[in-house]
Amino acid sequence: MKILIVGSGIAGLSLFHKLKHSQHEIDFIEKAPSTRLQGAGICLPANAMAGFESLGFKDEILKHAHQVTEVHFEKASRKLLSKASLLEAPLNQQPFVALERDNLMHILLKDIENKVQYNKFITSLQHNDNTCLVSFNNNSQKEYDLVIAADGINSDTRNKVFDTPDLLDLNVSNWRFCIDYPNHNMQPSYLLGENDLFMFYPISKDKLYCYGQISDPTGDIFKLDAKQAMEKVFSGYDQSVQNAIYNANTVIKGQLKSVKSREVFKHKVLLIGDALHGCPPSLQQGVGMALEDVLTLSELLNDSNNTTNQMLNSFKEKRLTRISWVIDESNKVIKLAELGKTLFGRLLRNTVIRISGPQNVKGWRKLMSEEI
Ligand SMILES: Cc1cc2nc3c(=O)[nH]c(=O)nc-3n(C[C@H](O)[C@H](O)[C@H](O)COP(=O)(O)OP(=O)(O)OC[C@H]3O[C@@H](n4cnc5c(N)ncnc54)[C@H](O)[C@@H]3O)c2cc1C
Repeated sequence: MKILIVGSGIAGLSLFHKLKHSQHEIDFIEKAPSTRLQGAGICLPANAMAGFESLGFKDEILKHAHQVTEVHFEKASRKLLSKASLLEAPLNQQPFVALERDNLMHILLKDIENKVQYNKFITSLQHNDNTCLVSFNNNSQKEYDLVIAADGINSDTRNKVFDTPDLLDLNVSNWRFCIDYPNHNMQPSYLLGENDLFMFYPISKDKLYCYGQISDPTGDIFKLDAKQAMEKVFSGYDQSVQNAIYNANTVIKGQLKSVKSREVFKHKVLLIGDALHGCPPSLQQGVGMALEDVLTLSELLNDSNNTTNQMLNSFKEKRLTRISWVIDESNKVIKLAELGKTLFGRLLRNTVIRISGPQNVKGWRKLMSEEI
């Protein structure tokens, strides 16, 4: 089969690794001049590590990553609301780790960077009965049996092919950065304020990945300089948060969005990764879901008894329920955080958390027990 992979993010790179020794002829394109390395930290829950184990990267990742064993939910003052262990079944099947995003990208790029055709993107797609004729920005054209869109949440391929490609704007602005913090001895801690939250997630014994967000329906806070915005938003938080913001160097800011459509493929174009299920990082499922897509798809592609249509339908059948649950649940966790806007809402939110435990751990338990 002639296959085009679009986008060299975590989804595209992982898929290329899985298919590089197959009988398929693969072209791999990336719009940017190089694979994007810039990023703060990345948290990999147990199901993401299970995916990396199947891809053969687990040991290499563990050399660069930090394992965490508990999750704490706290008030903005750092008073504990609830905590949960990550060492109990069904979570203990794999370690929960975090590392610098650049380190993960370097691991995935090793030995295949020269296979990515950079500065190349699709200008148009023409669908025939069994193939897709693709035109590129360098004026070349090629016919493919399958186009796999791994071009992220703002997927241009999705926009070109699907009728309802819109994204849901969650009206949440966020900031990400890493700081040095020698011997911090910390576990992942989520500090819940009003309609804002701040996370500390250790990525080594001396380094923390920090993430902050606030409900920002007008987008006015997003427009501010990142450090000024954070100083304002988190001014009522514990001193450890103020210190982290003070020590931040490179801050990446963003606005949370979620893929609305539940379309998985059309003609011979299939979506994977964030192009299919981009959503807020409440459950840190971006990588885990992308790897599950890759493993499901590569297994189907390696089964020569499948026609392309059978393969596409099987992929949809195997993936849609689980990814829909992750999108809906991730959006729900965002709404729960926003409840804190009012005093009553805060009381309700904090009571729910005290009784039922950290929301993300609840979600991970479901995912790891394969209930969905
Ligand atoms: C604030 C935030 C925090 C997150 N934290 C976590 C976390 O802790 N853990 C976790 O698992 N996930 C997290 N995620 C999600 C995670 O980053 C993604 O799910 C994961 O990187 C997989 O993305 P991807 O490869 O599908 O897309 P991307 O990483 O977006 O890669 C897409 C690639 O396609 C390229 N591209 C774009 N358009 C085109 C085009 N037209 N033609 C060719 N190439 C193109 C891009 O340049 C890029 O290289 C977070 C997301 C956000 C927004």
